[in-house]
Amino acid sequence: MGIQAQFTFMGTSGSMGIPVIGCHCATCNSLNPLDKRMRPSGLIQVADKNFIIDVGPDFRMQALRLGIEKIDGVLISHAHSDHIAGLDDLRAYYFLHKSKTPCLLSELTFEELKQRYPYLFQPTDNKKSVTAQLDFCVLSQEFGSIFFQEIKWVFFSYLHAGINVTGFRVGNFAYVSDIRYYSNQVIDRLIGVETLTISVHKRKATKVHFGIEEAMEFSALIGAKKTYFTHLSHDFEHSKIKLPSGFELAYDGMIIFFTISKKDIHGN
Ligand SMILES: [Zn+2]
Ligand SMILES: [Zn+2]
Repeated sequence: MGIQAQFTFMGTSGSMGIPVIGCHCATCNSLNPLDKRMRPSGLIQVADKNFIIDVGPDFRMQALRLGIEKIDGVLISHAHSDHIAGLDDLRAYYFLHKSKTPCLLSELTFEELKQRYPYLFQPTDNKKSVTAQLDFCVLSQEFGSIFFQEIKWVFFSYLHAGINVTGFRVGNFAYVSDIRYYSNQVIDRLIGVETLTISVHKRKATKVHFGIEEAMEFSALIGAKKTYFTHLSHDFEHSKIKLPSGFELAYDGMIIFFTISKKDIHGN
């Protein structure tokens, strides 16, 4: 018996968002609300805590739409713009709660953030405007597990566009974004995951992203019962895509459930 937890897809597109500016393809012209996608992000709610995975350029609208007024932790998969460009908007939570937002990320992602957002690493000077106040928790290894904000997270890394991306597992749920090449160690960390969220950018694999077929193979390797595709480009029009049972296209606002065991909550 586990403790119920839930994941909300805050954004299910890739870097461009859907509709794509200037594109008039069937997906971008679609009136189906399922085809309107914001940049990739998710909300994990477990043991009365809110965790955000990736904070993209649409974060503010996503947070308003879901009414997120408290964030206990942020997990960052990698430092590409579609996954981090909303970090500045986390300042609102500092104004609300007067406390820093804890952020879990790899060393590589941390170094990249320093390059992209040097001002987030400078001490607060109240005479100047206050930037987002983040409390970084840097993972010193590529594979392992950690209690972050009292919840146990398993983390693992894989390659995407020549950089290491971090995937996260909590209980029997995993969020694996921007994946193309991976080692058996990744599969090992995911055995037992029943609900898998995985990025599939186009129907066919690209240099840096899985296609449908590879994502299905990956899901079969770990034995997931339900697999949700996210990070979707305009190659995916909801009404036109038929997937076998056990596989679904995610959409913005979709909520899925999973469980974690008591021992994965610190103090139990
Ligand atoms: Zn991405
Ligand atoms: Zn389009």
